[in-house]
Amino acid sequence: MTNTPRAARFLALASSALAFCGAATASPQSAVELAQQGDDPAWAITEGLTTEIGPRQAATEAEAAARRWALARLAAMGFANVREEQFMMPTWVRGDEEASLTGPFQPQKLHIAALGNSASTGPKGIEGEIVYFASYDALLAAPDAMVKGKIVFIDHQMKAAQDGSGYGQYGRARFTGPNAAAKKGAIATVIRSIGTDNHRVPHTGGTNFEKGVKPIPAGALSNPDADQLVRQWRRVTATPVAGGASPGALRLKLLLTPQNLGQQHSGNIIAEVPGSDPAASPVIIACHLDSWDLATGAIDDAAGCGIITAAAKHVMTAGQPRRTIRLLWAGAEEVGVFGGKAYFEAHGKEKHAVAMESDFGADRVWRVDFKLPDSAKSLADRISAAVAPFGVTRGKYPASGGADVGALIEAGVPAVDLQQDGTRYFDLHHTADDTLDKVDPAQLRQNVVAWTAVLAILANSSDAELP
Ligand SMILES: [Zn+2]
Repeated sequence: MTNTPRAARFLALASSALAFCGAATASPQSAVELAQQGDDPAWAITEGLTTEIGPRQAATEAEAAARRWALARLAAMGFANVREEQFMMPTWVRGDEEASLTGPFQPQKLHIAALGNSASTGPKGIEGEIVYFASYDALLAAPDAMVKGKIVFIDHQMKAAQDGSGYGQYGRARFTGPNAAAKKGAIATVIRSIGTDNHRVPHTGGTNFEKGVKPIPAGALSNPDADQLVRQWRRVTATPVAGGASPGALRLKLLLTPQNLGQQHSGNIIAEVPGSDPAASPVIIACHLDSWDLATGAIDDAAGCGIITAAAKHVMTAGQPRRTIRLLWAGAEEVGVFGGKAYFEAHGKEKHAVAMESDFGADRVWRVDFKLPDSAKSLADRISAAVAPFGVTRGKYPASGGADVGALIEAGVPAVDLQQDGTRYFDLHHTADDTLDKVDPAQLRQNVVAWTAVLAILANSSDAELP
């Protein structure tokens, strides 16, 4: 936030808005000026949602409270057709979680978080011998006999990258590592957190078991705790010095008591800026309202909802766009993109001009990517030129959208991605550390300015460009 007094900022916004009153379509530049000078709805939403609601895991009462909060806030901001679209989904909630290395060295506690869809160990916990795998691929290659009856540990620390590109590769240990271990007869799986920090905060996230595979308990250790486990593993597997005895097997005690609550309600929140041409297909912009339960979900994804909503608000204030802008605050993204799938089921057959999503934190946008029809060549050039002043360069690869608009894009809807700097995103992702203090207001503002520039152009594009 700037230090500009609130009243002065309001006047700047009001006079700027007045200047464009009556214009059929405001120039994209006028919306960008609003984003640069105006009040900061992105911060207000991020601060408000994280402060007044806090953690909001999918299909829990907290997420329902977040939907009520969202409905009230979006209506108060002047959006049209603000509504909730409910759906049902299988719901998993965390219980107690403890892990200890129990031998052959002095017993010691580790910091662990259960993975979504983990089975319970029961209230007494389980204890077993650890078998170490350097990577997910090493686990896949292992014979069943090596794993059967043991607790599988999967190593390999993800490294930070601006584009977050390690997540897909290292993330497999979480996405399907426990499933692979269960198929080989493991009694539990513990992974190194899919994260780039070295703090004692484990990173949770969903894991998935195939149909027919009985889920096993599955958790993630914080990176320093994983380091500790690995040091002990190296000692127990080192060749004993001549005459020395092996210290014995490495053992872990695990208590995880999550519960499956069966089918529960979740929902998407939808709001619109109505376009002046009712025949033109809408622009859809998405974020997700739910968060993991360990923190207040500031960067994942309150900030994303703040960014897309602020951009839509600035475009709306600058003058009615030609196309309708539809905001999707999706429910239940973290636990399996249930909201994105429900939106596609309800609206996938409707025509959408183009899709955008913000779900990669709150740090600055550095690249713009496109997946547009050939008819939109000059549109892409105009967008690239419009964001260039904000330090955003044009990428070489096609836009892929995000999870919640993924089904639409797969079905052929064009996409524009504003890629955020993800260098520190996986320090915080899905941890107890994802809190408001991690959001840098200046970088959040840069997101809003870049988004406003792009959205204003897309929402006023012609049918020849985006049929
Ligand atoms: Zn997210």
